[in-house]
Amino acid sequence: MTEYPPLFKHAAPTFVASLFCAFCLLASGAQALSVDKARVGVYPDKTRLVLELSAASDFRTFTLDTPYRLVIDMPHFAWNAGDFDRPAASGITGLRSGALKPGISRLVLDMSRPTSVESAFILPEQAGKPNRLVIDYISVSPAQFQAMKSRVQGRLNVDDPAHARNAPPALAAQTQAHAALDIASIPKPTAKPVSKPPAKPAYKPLIVIDPGHGGADPGAVGHNNIKEKNVVLALSKELKRQLESSGHYRAILTRKSDKFIKLSQRRKFARDRGADLFISLHADSLDKKNVRGASVYTLSEKASDKQTARLAARENKADLIGGIDLSVEDEEVASILVDLAMRDTTNQAKFFANKIVDTFKGLGLRVLDNPHRYAGFAVLKAPDVPSVLVEAGFMSNRREANLLNTSSHRNKLAKALHRGIDAYFLQVAKNQRL
Ligand code: ZN
Repeated sequence: MTEYPPLFKHAAPTFVASLFCAFCLLASGAQALSVDKARVGVYPDKTRLVLELSAASDFRTFTLDTPYRLVIDMPHFAWNAGDFDRPAASGITGLRSGALKPGISRLVLDMSRPTSVESAFILPEQAGKPNRLVIDYISVSPAQFQAMKSRVQGRLNVDDPAHARNAPPALAAQTQAHAALDIASIPKPTAKPVSKPPAKPAYKPLIVIDPGHGGADPGAVGHNNIKEKNVVLALSKELKRQLESSGHYRAILTRKSDKFIKLSQRRKFARDRGADLFISLHADSLDKKNVRGASVYTLSEKASDKQTARLAARENKADLIGGIDLSVEDEEVASILVDLAMRDTTNQAKFFANKIVDTFKGLGLRVLDNPHRYAGFAVLKAPDVPSVLVEAGFMSNRREANLLNTSSHRNKLAKALHRGIDAYFLQVAKNQRL
């Protein structure tokens, strides 16, 4: 451990988060934060780093290369964990911490190999255990690393003046002196001078587009035998085309043809590829044939109304059509840890859903009353991929089924979704300010 002068003495925490709330923490006022213990565990499928904190805290974590590093930023903290035990298999070869800027501290772990942070979350204090920041990471290939390295997990607004205000005056002065020491986000110069370094390609977020139903499951069937599974596949392909031609995104479909895929497989597809966003596309059906308009759904255990609960039950039945599912539910879904990681993901999904509603309205596309609704859609349960389900319209309405069957209307729907995606990532970039 490279010891930098202590930033400030560890003061007893005066604040105990009675309820964990990532957003409240931003406004919680001055806390003397300290990292009191650190430990690392190597498992077959991941390595887990746990930092015991004096208080729950906002954070962000990401990786850097040349050389490989894992970086954790938090509001300024005292490092009381020393040079903790770490097995060679953890890949951590060294660590150091210091001030990044007034009110913000940075912990840098030197890594022997490229890694990717799979999930990072705060576990609030309970059963005598303190607040903990948990970071799970895996080894990846250099190529995978390049594709994923600008992903940031967690949320910390390093430009929030409240952080600087909370910094003790002595620290502000110290920070000036240390500013050059530990700005790890500026890559260290490489040993051999490169005449003209190739421009780093900007990270393109990965959007997984999920055309609902397929194969034996037609979804809703409108008049003239127009089938939901076909219109949503065509809409998905158009959205993929628009996203890719913008040059800003990568896009993959969970199915490219008329085939049946289980809901859990669709979710897993997005997680396995490290999706930044998951959009499941559907078209609804109701007995009331006059109802028209799009709606956007995010995950909730409690449905926002009865109609939405019935819709979720109907969509979730898709799995039964493919035969009895004997596979056990992914262990991830059962875990309390997932609950916590999911709150952040769900908040991001809600934000995205509201953006889509805005862009639909902006393009004059019809939406239902209260167009953003909540329910327990199985396909939305990936704990770490913000996920929404869009019902693009009603197959049960003659005019809307006809519209959904035209490429011009689907182009417009895809355009609205594309704009919503733009608005979402603009906000993500603002939050990260890297
Ligand atoms: Zn559907």
